[in-house]
Amino acid sequence: GGPLLDVRGLRVEFRTRDGVARAVNGVDYSVEAGQTLAVLGESGSGKSVTAQAVMGILDSPPGFVTGGQVLFDGQDLLTMPAERRRRIRGARMAMIFQDALSSLNPVLSVGDQLGEMYRVHRGASRKEARAKAVELMERVRIPAARERVRQYPHQFSGGMRQRVMIAMAISLEPELIIADEPTTALDVTVQAQVMELLAELQREFRMGLILITHDLGVVADVADKIAVMYAGRIVENAPVRDIYRAPAHPYTKGLLRSIPRLDQKGSELYAIKGLPPNLLHIPPGCAFHPRCPIARPVCRTEVPPLYAVDEKRTSACHFWRETVGDERAAADRP
Ligand code: SF4
Ligand code: MG
Repeated sequence: GGPLLDVRGLRVEFRTRDGVARAVNGVDYSVEAGQTLAVLGESGSGKSVTAQAVMGILDSPPGFVTGGQVLFDGQDLLTMPAERRRRIRGARMAMIFQDALSSLNPVLSVGDQLGEMYRVHRGASRKEARAKAVELMERVRIPAARERVRQYPHQFSGGMRQRVMIAMAISLEPELIIADEPTTALDVTVQAQVMELLAELQREFRMGLILITHDLGVVADVADKIAVMYAGRIVENAPVRDIYRAPAHPYTKGLLRSIPRLDQKGSELYAIKGLPPNLLHIPPGCAFHPRCPIARPVCRTEVPPLYAVDEKRTSACHFWRETVGDERAAADRP
């Protein structure tokens, strides 16, 4: 069959007092069973909003899906009957957020929260639910699970809390997990451990995983492919290897150059100049043009389509050939 999740032409707007913020402007991405897609971008690029629209947890109002499709297993979540949609989003898909502390209930023990999934969705007894909670905690390698199952979220460290969130997410063995900055709030060493755990569970259960992050450094080892977002659009879509070897969009290139590298200790970190655009006033033409080091007049007027770089890659840059380093095609430039 086709992809597990196939987002097509998704559009989301926020109606604010100051006007319409175009948060998502025609996003296409897909993920197969057992595959990891990293969605990369600065804050405000639309990566979280896209995920919220997929999961049906968009704040609406003010946010509205104004176009596109969200195909799960071939069926459009946006138009299917509400009851079926609830069942899919409740059990076959799960989401992990950055801030575990505010996603967990502070007055319920971790075990009760984990067990609740089974009580609600599987009709388990209290005892069965407790046993399952312990099993899940062991699965995400929380030490002393039998004792800790009675503890409350504030008694866990940030990393352990994030493991609880992961346990919660995998509890019903979903086919798809969307993790929104799952390690951003953690220390660097803990980040790597949590990311490793997520990748391991993803392989074990053959889940599709969408990993939303602003940090290109954390996804290199776990992602199969990367979608780079800017101003509510995907600007580059490529297998992870290709992105690191030869990015085909100046924005991706900038993100790559701003990853801290061990071999460049002491040298100044590169930063893309300027700020992401205000979504109420997205620049005309290529939205990245005010920040792009190679922008030319055409960039201010013509919105770049997603050009096919090869069968597996697309880039929304008029000058992708030059960016990817293919000088042969210099004559084809617009
Ligand atoms: Fe830069 Fe122009 Fe490419 Fe946009 S289309 S990324 S402004 S070169
Ligand atoms: Mg976000």
